[in-house]
Amino acid sequence: MRPVAFDYIAPTTVAEVVQALVDGGDDAKLLGGGHSLLPVLRLRMADPSMLIDLGRVDGLRQVREDGDGLVIGAMTTYHALAHDPLVGEHAGVLAQAAASVGDPQIRYRGTIGGSLAHADPAGDIAPAVLALEAVLEITGPSGVRTVPASEFFEDYFTTALGEDEVLTAVRVPKHTGWGMRYEKFSQVAQSWGIVAVAAAVRVEDGTVAEARLGMSNMGSTPLRSGAAETALIGQPVEAGALQRAAARAGEGTNPTTDPAGTPDYRRHLAGVLAGRAVAAAAGASG
Ligand SMILES: Cc1cc2nc3c(=O)[nH]c(=O)nc-3n(C[C@H](O)[C@H](O)[C@H](O)COP(=O)(O)OP(=O)(O)OC[C@H]3O[C@@H](n4cnc5c(N)ncnc54)[C@H](O)[C@@H]3O)c2cc1C
Repeated sequence: MRPVAFDYIAPTTVAEVVQALVDGGDDAKLLGGGHSLLPVLRLRMADPSMLIDLGRVDGLRQVREDGDGLVIGAMTTYHALAHDPLVGEHAGVLAQAAASVGDPQIRYRGTIGGSLAHADPAGDIAPAVLALEAVLEITGPSGVRTVPASEFFEDYFTTALGEDEVLTAVRVPKHTGWGMRYEKFSQVAQSWGIVAVAAAVRVEDGTVAEARLGMSNMGSTPLRSGAAETALIGQPVEAGALQRAAARAGEGTNPTTDPAGTPDYRRHLAGVLAGRAVAAAAGASG
């Protein structure tokens, strides 16, 4: 089906984007890579009268160092994330998650900002962003504000973004010396994950000193796994011990039922994937 007719503008500054959002009100919609928005328009599940393309805005498509962190522009594509040397060195699980998204066409167009703003609980970027304890930079009429990733996702396809705000960057603390792994389980290659787990682990003197696990599809928003993270602290770097602790990843979650799996199946899968991810991230033997 064709979308309802809309006007199209392509501003070149964030200030112009915000002004266009204010002027457009409910009728304006931001366009990132378009891989989620355009299908929604073609199905006529949304009918904005104005699309504001972010593709020409200066500075939104870059990765740069800023002290102890990286600043990743919202229009940075999955392909760029997967190949960027700074992301690979300091936030490897984000590069791995981006490399797992869809197929090459999706990865060339889809953006980190679009993925997070769309807030599909099955998306691959959010678990990595949660595990890295990233902070999202949001720009609106009152200026720039920051929201921790853990407070950004509110419900299915719902975030802390206001209607007149744009996600401009993702700030990721450098995780130098941490081990990381993204594990995703799909029915067929290049499809969405039934469940995915992003693990970031810091090992000290042969035991786990810190562990963070972000998960997709385990509820109405992407989630951290508090139970498994706590159980992992102090565990020796040995695959069996790490897998037993990580098996608690699904505890306290309320995942959905769909043709790909029941809640019990997803909780089981989360435990298995968390075990694999943590063991690989920690470099465990056995
Ligand atoms: C065939 C197919 C397979 C896919 N497979 C996967 C997969 O395996 N894993 C996965 O994670 N995703 C997958 N996707 C989704 C893909 O990742 C999308 O690119 C992503 O969900 C949205 O990013 P986008 O840049 O395309 O955003 P758009 O589609 O342009 O926008 C999505 C929403 O976010 C808003 N938005 C966009 N940018 C911003 C911003 N900077 N600030 C505020 N709001 C903004 C838009 O207004 C819109 O509401 C798939 C999509 C398709 C079509």
